[in-house]
Amino acid sequence: MGGIDTVGHPLLTLKSIWTSSRVLLSLIAIGGLVTLGLVLASAVWASRESDVAALDRQRELVENRLHKQVEDVASELELMAEGYANVIFSSNENAKIDVVGGESFGHIVRSIFGYDQAFVVSLNGQMALQTDSEAAGRYEWIRPLLAPMLQRATQTSADGGEPAQIVELMRLEGRPSLAGVVPITRMTSETSTPTQLYLIAYRYIDGPALDAFSQEQGLDGARFARASDPEANEVSFQINATGSQEPLGFIIWTPDLPGSRVVVRLVPALTTSAIIVAGLLGVLMVLLHRSLSDLQQSERKARHRSLHDILTDLPNRALFAQRLGQCLEDQRLSTKRSLVALVDLDKFKAVNDTHGHGAGDELIQAVAVRISGLLGNGDMLARLGGDEFALLLPDRAGDDRSYLDLCNRIVEELSKPFTLLAGKANASISCSIGITTVGIAAQSASEVLHLADIALYEAKSAGRGRCVEYSASMNRSATLREELKTDLSTLLRPSDTSVAMKGQGLEVFYQTIHRAVAGDHISGAEALVRWRHPTHGLLTPDKFISLAEDSGLILDLGSFVLRQACATAALWQNGGVVSVNVSPIQLRRPEFPDEVLHILDQTGLPPNRLELEVTETALMGGDEFLVQATLARLRAHCVMIALDDFGTGYSSLSHLIIFGIDRIKIDRSFVALLGTRKDGAAIVSAVVALSHSLGLATTAEGVETNEQRDFLIAAGCSDLQGFLFSRPVIEPDMTLKPPKAARPA
Ligand code: C2E
Ligand code: CA
Ligand code: CA
Repeated sequence: MGGIDTVGHPLLTLKSIWTSSRVLLSLIAIGGLVTLGLVLASAVWASRESDVAALDRQRELVENRLHKQVEDVASELELMAEGYANVIFSSNENAKIDVVGGESFGHIVRSIFGYDQAFVVSLNGQMALQTDSEAAGRYEWIRPLLAPMLQRATQTSADGGEPAQIVELMRLEGRPSLAGVVPITRMTSETSTPTQLYLIAYRYIDGPALDAFSQEQGLDGARFARASDPEANEVSFQINATGSQEPLGFIIWTPDLPGSRVVVRLVPALTTSAIIVAGLLGVLMVLLHRSLSDLQQSERKARHRSLHDILTDLPNRALFAQRLGQCLEDQRLSTKRSLVALVDLDKFKAVNDTHGHGAGDELIQAVAVRISGLLGNGDMLARLGGDEFALLLPDRAGDDRSYLDLCNRIVEELSKPFTLLAGKANASISCSIGITTVGIAAQSASEVLHLADIALYEAKSAGRGRCVEYSASMNRSATLREELKTDLSTLLRPSDTSVAMKGQGLEVFYQTIHRAVAGDHISGAEALVRWRHPTHGLLTPDKFISLAEDSGLILDLGSFVLRQACATAALWQNGGVVSVNVSPIQLRRPEFPDEVLHILDQTGLPPNRLELEVTETALMGGDEFLVQATLARLRAHCVMIALDDFGTGYSSLSHLIIFGIDRIKIDRSFVALLGTRKDGAAIVSAVVALSHSLGLATTAEGVETNEQRDFLIAAGCSDLQGFLFSRPVIEPDMTLKPPKAARPA
C-alpha cells in the first residue's frame, strides 16, 4: 500500500489572486473616480469663485455706472442751466424769462439731453416757464416729490453759499428716476447774481434708459422690478433713493458667469471620462475574471485528473488515502465505525493475456460500473491501480452485516460473465475482498489499508472468490509471513561468510509416481520442498512458496531444489524420472534453460530423467514466445515437460499444442470428485481421452483410494500419484524398477 499523497490547493491560490486583483482593480477604479470627482469638485469650486468675482465686478460696474450717471446728470444740468441763463439774461436784466418758448425748451431737454421732463421753477417752487399744459399738470403731481430737493438747493443759496446743483435718485411717477435741480445763475463779469430761477430735470432709469445701460454694460436681459424676484439664473441690484435710502427697486439681469460656463463645458467631458474609466475598468474586471475562470477551470481539471483514475474516472489511490485520512480524523472522537474493503479481481490477467489490453480495459470499466451500481449514498469506490479497487463505506449505525452483505453481493455480481469487445469476447472472473473496520484504535490510513490487505491476502489464500474480514489472528499470520520472508532471505542469500550454509533448513522430499498399467511399479518421483524452520517446525510449501515468489527468492529456492533433486535422482538405482516444480517466475527468465542444462551437467543426471512441472499461468503473461522457446530448447535436450494442475487454470487445448507438452497432470481436485460427484468420472475420462488423442501421457494426482486408482487405470491414465502409494518422504524407496518401455519417448 502506498503512503498518503497530500494534495495541495492551487484553487485557493487562484481564488486569492482573483480576490486581490479584484481589490486592486476596485482600488484603481475608486482612485480614478475619486480623482475625477476631485477634479470636478475643484472645477466647480473654482468656477464658483470666478462667478462670485465676476458677479462682484458686474455689480460694481452697475454701481459705478449709476454714480457716473448722477455725475453726468449734474454736469448736464449745469450745462443746460448755463445755456439757458445766457439766453435769458443776454439782452437785459429784466428780460422776460419766457424768451425761449416752453416747447422748444422741452424739446431740447428731451431730444438733445435725453431727459424725460424738465421744469424751470422760481424760488418758491412755482413753475416759472410755462411749457405745455401736460408739463404743468405733471409738475403739479410731482411737485411735492421734488420740493425737498428744491428746498435744499434754495436753502444753500439763501445761506449765501455757492448755488449748488443737487442730483438724486428717487421715485417719480412710480418709476426710478435720476432727478436734479440746478440754479439758473446770471453771470456778469464782476459778479454772479443769485438767481430766482431753478432748472429741474429728471429722467427715468428704467425702460429705454435701462436698455441702453444694459447694452453698454453688457448686462444680459436686464429689467427693472419693484421687488427683488430674480429667476434662478438671475441676480438683482438694489437701487436706493438718495436721501431717504428707501429702496426704489431692483435691476435684474442674467449675469455672465464664466466659471459656470467652464463647468458646463467641463461636465460632459469629465462625465465621459468617468464613464470611459469605469467602462475600461469594468472590461478589465470582466477579462480578468474570465481568464482567471479559465485558469481555475483548467486547474480544476488538472486537480481532478491528479485525483482520479483515467480509465474509470473513479477516485485514485491519492484521493482514497485523503478521504480515508479525513474519515479517521472524523472518527477520532466518535463511536462510528466505517469500513474499508480492498477488492482484487481474480483471473483478470488471463483476460488481458487472452483477449488483449483493450478487453482488459473494458473489463475494468465494466467492473467499476457493476460495483458502483451496488453502492449507496456516501459509499466511495476507488481504483488503486491494475485490477485493485478499494471501498470506503461510512458508518451504518453498527449494522455490520450490511457490510458483509454488500461485499458478498459484489463477489456474486463480479462472478457473472462479462461480454467484451462488442460481443466478440466473454470473460468469467471473480474477486477477492479483504475487509477491515476503520477507527477501532488510533490508526493511520496506511495502517488501515495494511489490515485490509492482510484480509485480502487471506481471502486469496482461502481460494479466492470470497470476502474475508480482518481479525487479529490474521495479523499474526501476516507478521509470521514477514518473519518467514526475512528468514528465507537469510537462508537463501547468506552473507559472504556463510555461503556454505546456503539453503540450510530446506529439505527436498519425494513422492513416488507409479505406472498405472504395471501395478505399483515406480516410474519416478516428484520433488516437493520442505522447510525445517528452527522455531516453526517443518513447513510445507504453501507456507512459503508464495512469499518466495513475492520477494523474488523463488529463483534461489528453485535452483536449490533443482540441483538437490537432480543430484539425488542421479543416485537412484532404478533410473526413475524426477519431477521438479518450476515457478512461472523461473520459467520467464531467459537464462533458465542454460541453468537447467548446467545443473544436469554438474549432477550427471541424464536430461531424459528430468521432468519439469509447469502451470498454465506460467505459459501465459505476455512472454509466450520466450517461454515457448525455453520449453522447445529443453525438450530438444530430452528434458520432459508436464503441465501441472491441469483443469484448474485455462485448460486450454491450444496451450497443449503450442507449447509442446509431454504430460498432463490431472489436478487432485478432479480425482477427488471420483466417487463423490456423478460428473467427476466424466470429467476425468474426458481429460484422459483428450491426452490420448494428443499423444500425451497423464498423471493423476492425489490418488487416495483404491476406487480412484481402479477407475483411473480403467480410464487409461498412464501414471498415478497419491497418498495411496506414498506420502512425500525424504528418502523414497526407489528400488522398484519400472518396466522398460513405460515412459513416453
Ligand atoms: P503440487 O505440484 O500439486 O504437488 C502435489 C501436492 O499434493 C503436494 O503438496 C503433495 O504433498 C500433495 N499430495 C500428494 N498426494 C496427495 C494426496 O493423495 N492427497 C492430498 N490431499 N494431497 C496429496 P505439497 O508438498 O504441500 O506441495 C504443495 C505445492 O507446492 C505443490 O503442488 C507445488 O505446486 C508447490 N511446490 C512444492 N515444492 C515446490 C518447489 O520445489 N518449487 C515450486 N516452485 N513449487 C513447489
Ligand atoms: Ca507438481
Ligand atoms: Ca499438481
